[in-house]
Amino acid sequence: MNHPAYRAPRLLIDGQWCPGTGEAAWAVRNPATGEVLDQLGLAGEAEVRRALQAAQRGFEAWRELPAARRGQLLLQGVAEMRARRQAIAAALTLEQGKPLAEALAEVDMAAELIQWYAEEARRVYGRLQPSRLAGADMRVSRHPVGPVAAFSPWNFPLVLSARKIGGALAAGCSVLLKPAEETPGAVAAMVACFHDQGLPAGALQLLFGQPAALSRQLLESPVVRKLSFTGSVEVGRLLARQAAEGFKRMTLELGGHAPAIVWRDADVQRAARMLAAHKFRNAGQACLAPSRFIVHQDLLEPFTQAFVECASELRVGDGMDPPTTMGPLANARRLAAVRELVQDARQRGAQVIEAAPAPASGPGYFAPALVLRGLAPGTRLLSEEAFGPVAPILGVASLEQALREANATSYGLAAYLFTDSASVVHACECGLEVGALAVNTVAVSVPEAPFGGVKDSGMGRESGIEGMEAYLESRFVHQAY
Ligand code: NAD
Repeated sequence: MNHPAYRAPRLLIDGQWCPGTGEAAWAVRNPATGEVLDQLGLAGEAEVRRALQAAQRGFEAWRELPAARRGQLLLQGVAEMRARRQAIAAALTLEQGKPLAEALAEVDMAAELIQWYAEEARRVYGRLQPSRLAGADMRVSRHPVGPVAAFSPWNFPLVLSARKIGGALAAGCSVLLKPAEETPGAVAAMVACFHDQGLPAGALQLLFGQPAALSRQLLESPVVRKLSFTGSVEVGRLLARQAAEGFKRMTLELGGHAPAIVWRDADVQRAARMLAAHKFRNAGQACLAPSRFIVHQDLLEPFTQAFVECASELRVGDGMDPPTTMGPLANARRLAAVRELVQDARQRGAQVIEAAPAPASGPGYFAPALVLRGLAPGTRLLSEEAFGPVAPILGVASLEQALREANATSYGLAAYLFTDSASVVHACECGLEVGALAVNTVAVSVPEAPFGGVKDSGMGRESGIEGMEAYLESRFVHQAY
């Protein structure tokens, strides 16, 4: 059954919106009801071949434009995104589940990200150095790496696609974007805002397909010069192997299991309020979500109480209903995965507090907001990313123990710290194995600063000048006269 307000998008190949003619279609579902919103047509091999050829032509045309003009076209697209924010957000809530207010905030965040890159387009600097020869120049100039294959996931489809589109296009690359098939509509609506500004055909293309076959075909092609992927560790590892075969540049953002350290001198109420809001945003399906709360033992009771109180204010329901503050999980496999991890913790003796219940019955992939304590060593939740509304709290007696716990997973993306002690901040800044640390705030990802991880959380950075760098090559020129 199709939803009257939702249409699955078409593919954007070589400047034209066209139907996918691959063998199978993908049923896009509303996670609040489980019902099929529409059928998404998928690209077949011939379409992907066409898109690859267009990506090369699109790259050659796009990089020829002056950087200021590229930036201006992107800014026009950003203005269009803001004008269409209601429609884009509605598609996002229908297919992803997050409350409409969060979907609107995501549109705004994605627009701001691309705006930052668009403004940065004209600040790509090279350098001039004294030559080793008499009467000669040595310079280093910067050039776009070439066509980019970009893969974005379903949890923040707009923001995570915007990081790739913004960086690549601002640097002068063409982009073949493959968003998650689960959440195609909002991304397509965002892409349309830029396409409508008259970008050269092939500069920005949108593909959906059978993920494994489509990504292999893209990464095997010599046309593609860079891989940018956000998603799970397993898929990231697979794509990295494929990209390595062709020595393609790569940026990988593969999730996290962020520790939040609440130190002895922290303002408990403030820390609990900020961390609970951040934890349960998007029902916990965020790579940067705090997911292990490491609390000084003196504050364990008051923090847990304050955190549960904040979480109990959540209203779990359909993201389209105005009172809802936490939507369903985005798909059935997430619900099953979260339940399994909670079950494991329960079996090992953890106390599970249901802070906000899921709707009692009916369809949809709803999960309650849970707070856990008394977790035994070896509990899977402590090392595996739950990617859901589950908050395990641990007490620690020393900073050494806090750092040991914080670093005890294979992930290393974000971390949070609440303290006013300069020496504790210094110890954490030096001792935490992460790509980003927020102290007394939760704003760990902003357009103008680099975001990315260490260890299994991936490699490379998005956003900030590092995010632009990721789409540029250096060329050395030694010129004698
Ligand atoms: P999954 O590994 O089953 O991946 C499914 C998603 O990845 C789909 O959107 C699919 O289109 C895409 N995909 C799968 N195989 C692919 C391939 N060969 N090439 C390109 N794309 C491919 O994972 P999942 O169930 O979506 O999530 C599992 C875990 O992934 C989560 O628990 C979380 O840890 C992580 N994750 C991280 C992020 C992030 O922001 N870093 C986002 C989503 C998921």
